[in-house]
Amino acid sequence: MTAPHAPRITPTRLSDGRELLYFDDPGTPPRTPVADRRGLTHRAAPGELRYDELSGDWVAVAAHRQSRTHLPPAEACPLCPTTASNASEIPEPDYDVVVFENRFPSLGPDTAVVSPTLPWGHTVPAVGRCEVVSFTASHTGSFAQLPYERARTVVEAWAHRTAALSALPGVRQVFPFENRGAEIGVTLHHPHGQIYAYPYVTPRAAQLGAAARRFYDEAGGRATLLGTLLDRERAAGERVVLEGAHFTAYVPFAARWPLEVHLVPHRHVADFSALAGEEKDELADAYLTLLRGLDALYPTPTPYIAAWHQAPLEAALRPASRFHLQLTSPRRAADKLKFLAGSEAAMGAFINDTTPEQVAARLRDALSGAPAVRAATGKAPA
Ligand SMILES: [Zn+2]
Repeated sequence: MTAPHAPRITPTRLSDGRELLYFDDPGTPPRTPVADRRGLTHRAAPGELRYDELSGDWVAVAAHRQSRTHLPPAEACPLCPTTASNASEIPEPDYDVVVFENRFPSLGPDTAVVSPTLPWGHTVPAVGRCEVVSFTASHTGSFAQLPYERARTVVEAWAHRTAALSALPGVRQVFPFENRGAEIGVTLHHPHGQIYAYPYVTPRAAQLGAAARRFYDEAGGRATLLGTLLDRERAAGERVVLEGAHFTAYVPFAARWPLEVHLVPHRHVADFSALAGEEKDELADAYLTLLRGLDALYPTPTPYIAAWHQAPLEAALRPASRFHLQLTSPRRAADKLKFLAGSEAAMGAFINDTTPEQVAARLRDALSGAPAVRAATGKAPA
């Protein structure tokens, strides 16, 4: 047994009142937060929520986001530590991991309960919370290049924020994610992710949640859909990419994207905050391993979306919904991306040009050549 990974957490506020928390690797000396000297006086006006009666989906309208920073150089990066010439979002001269409220949020800063629907022609303020998670003080690199200890600190930050955001009034779903690659719309190169706390259950989570709930009811509450699919994938084996004591990763039987991997816990847990210490240890390892494998497939880095699915904060959906990662990429060749066109974008009907079995075999090959994540850090494997 290794000691629990307990980062040093230092909360503070930016000059416009936004919350910021430093998550420093264990063993880091205490930090007295440096004040934000930019004198920002006000927050961006909130956007609005509109309810689409045609689909039953909510749409966040956030016109103010048009003015946000787009691919700035390191000298002007808002996620790099503050220097004499760059008063960034992070007042400190250095940090390990930092989480703060987005200056240009799609949702928030206020939180409130939103009614289930809203008549045509009416809007409500876009309540909720959007946070930025910076994985490192270094402007270049990627999550895959983080040392194990740092990735483990990020996992702890995700767990902390999941618990905190789930407790905010009206929040019904907490979604940590990372978009990697300018090809898929990243506006900052600095390695970072985001966390959205929605005042509604998103369409995709509602769809997955309903399927999970149906299965759970038919099984008399004795089995879950994702747990059952995990058992089937482990028994079949041909699409399994890596298997640990607490997590298994596989290309799902009916993968929709050219590259798609699901990382699923063996135990039924709802979200990051419900994971035990040894599960989080293995999760950091497995996630780094998957990302390094993804990057080993082609000569250049592969764009991806890492979507952490957590059980919605909804009594009807929560018992049946299992925490898991859906890691997807539109890359289908060294120089080709899949674009969502008519069938996918308009109808949600995916056509995959590769077989999940072939993708799994390629990923297993890529992983077998990569060095072990934890051996390199001197920390004993679990
Ligand atoms: Zn930067």
